[in-house]
Parts: sequence; structure tokens; C-alpha cells
Amino acid sequence: MKNISILGSTGSIGTQALEVCEKIGAKVYAITANNNLDLLEEQARKFKVELVSITNKELYTDLKTRLADTNIKVCCGEEGLLEAATYDKSDTVLNSVVGIAGLIPTMEAINAGKDIALANKETLVTGGKLVIEAAKKKGVKILPVDSEHSAIFQCMQGCSEKEIKKIILTASGGPFFGFTYEQLKNVTKAQALKHPNWSMGAKITIDSATLMNKGLELIEAAWLFNKKAEDIEIVVHRESVIHSLIELCDNAVLAQLGTPDMKIPIQYALTYPDRLECDTKCLSLTDYTNLTFYKPDYQTFKALAACKKAIELGGLYPCAVNCANEQAVKMFLDDKISFLRIGELVEEALHFKDYSGNYTLNDIMNTNLEIREYVKTIA
Ligand code: MG
Repeated sequence: MKNISILGSTGSIGTQALEVCEKIGAKVYAITANNNLDLLEEQARKFKVELVSITNKELYTDLKTRLADTNIKVCCGEEGLLEAATYDKSDTVLNSVVGIAGLIPTMEAINAGKDIALANKETLVTGGKLVIEAAKKKGVKILPVDSEHSAIFQCMQGCSEKEIKKIILTASGGPFFGFTYEQLKNVTKAQALKHPNWSMGAKITIDSATLMNKGLELIEAAWLFNKKAEDIEIVVHRESVIHSLIELCDNAVLAQLGTPDMKIPIQYALTYPDRLECDTKCLSLTDYTNLTFYKPDYQTFKALAACKKAIELGGLYPCAVNCANEQAVKMFLDDKISFLRIGELVEEALHFKDYSGNYTLNDIMNTNLEIREYVKTIA
């Protein structure tokens, strides 16, 4: 059984990952969270972890005091996150950190020879080339936790890469499916935070409403499965029953279906290549009399179009659109900009400067800072 570090253990994926670990008997050695002290302490005690880290340094003393009666090593900040990512007893790192903050921990974990169960899509969106190269060099696996990428990965078992002609990425369409540009002008934060099928954190829920999430997933899929943007089709599938599909060279299409429950992809990433029983609801196809499929509206949902353009342009463009979005979503959640402005700002990031060509980890970090500043000034 696997030995695991969970980065972002108090979030939606993190808490479900811990439940999965408990169920399958995986040992959790290290956990981290940004701010949620109560839950982090509870998890640390329950799972008898050896290392716990709180990213917000101001909470370090409090956490240390709370766990003073234990032998658990308490860390904080980015250093603590990296200690958890490289903890020597862990062989797998489940990364469910939100945003580009997940990139360096993934890279460090890869360099320490850990397999990665990847729920942080920004890792591949911002650092795709570097991450894939490092994983190849170190001979470690990157196992997708995102439901769509897990679906594709599951469909691919038994297929060779050259047999896969096309990837079909399904999208729920979010809460504003079918809305016109005019209708989107007046949508509120509360509406945007209400996802029809999945219960997730605030950032990804907003990304689902703008379709930015699907754009990030497109870029992630391109890196993960070595495909060009033109070989990845996005289809809006409102019911979230088909989690994604692949089309093979003989035009056979394989799909992975299930109830919308993240425990299935989380568990598969942690038990791969084996499968174990999972306490999720069984899919009852007859509960769904109508499965629907639509083309996405690239004109109205500008963030999705910008992501498609970014992966075609290559270089640091995907990083730029991602970081513009992170800043824009933050401002939207702080009531500083409108919903539609998010997509416009993401699109603007494509025109800020020439981001083509090769890049280093340092270039990614600089792009993050300069694009955030740019978005703040033009917002
Ligand atoms: Mg997804």
C-alpha cells in the first residue's frame, strides 16, 4: 500500500482523499493546509501523521501549541509545503493546492522521486514542459485526479499513445450554460458560486462558471496526454455522467461513466494500476432518461477561447492566462470586478507581451508576478 503526503488536506479534494486513504489502508505521513487550523489539527491526530504544515505563517505558533502533546513535526510557509512534498517516507504526493502555488511543490516532489497524484491543474498549465520533462527524467508517474483526465487515463489503459486519435473532454457548462452575453452582465457572485453538479472550492467553482476551468483542463490534457489543442474536442454534457472520452484510430470511441463523485478518480490515482471497491453511489443509467451534448460557446465564454489560443501559442502563454485568471477571480470574489470582466482580463493577458519560446521555472514565477500586476492596473 502507498505512503502518502497530501498537500491541501482540508480542501474538498483533500478531505475526500483522506477518506479514501482510510478506506484503502494507505498511510498518510504528511498533510498541509493554508488556514484551516481546526480541521488540520483534527486530521493530524486522526491519521497520526508525522508532519503537518500550515502555509499561513501567522498560524504556526497556534498549530504548534495545539499539537504540543504529540510527536508530530509542525512546519509552516512554503518551506513546510516543500517538506511535506518531499517527506522521505512518502512515495506518492497528492497535490490539491489551489493555483500556481502548487507548481514548485510538484517539481520538488518529482525531483525527490515521488509519484504525483495531481489535482492541482495549474502545475501542468503553467509549467507543463518542465514538469513532464522532469517526471520522465526521474521515472515518476503523474496520475491525474481531475475527473476528466482520470476518465481519459482510464479509457487509455490497454491503448498505445499512437492509437489515440482524439480526446473528447466533457464540460458541465457550469451554472450559466446557455446564457447570452447580455444575461451574464447582471449575474452575481452567489449565482456564480452555485455549481449544478459538483461541490467544490470557491476558486474552481468560479472557474467552472466562466468555463476557464475547462480551458485549464484543455491545457492540462494537452500536456498529460501529449496531444495538440486541435486533437482535443470540448463537448458540453450537462449531466456530468460521461466524464470524458477518447477516439481511437479505428474511430471506436471509449468513455468512462459514473456518478459525479471525486472519490472514484482520487482512489484510482492512489491504487493504480489496481482497482478496489469504492463506497460511491452506483450509476443508474435509467435515472438519466436524457444525456445531452452541446458545442461550447467560445464567443460568450472568453476565458475558454483564450486558453485554447494560449496552448496553440505555447511558451508562457498558458501560464499568463492562468495567472491573469487567478488575479481576476480574486478580485471578483472581493467584489471588485464583474463576472464578465474575468474573461476579458484573461483574454487581455494574451496581448501583454511576447511569451513564445522556451522558459525556465524562474520565467514562470516572473510571469505570474507581472501578469497579476498588469491585471490589477487594467481591471
Ligand atoms: Mg475537472
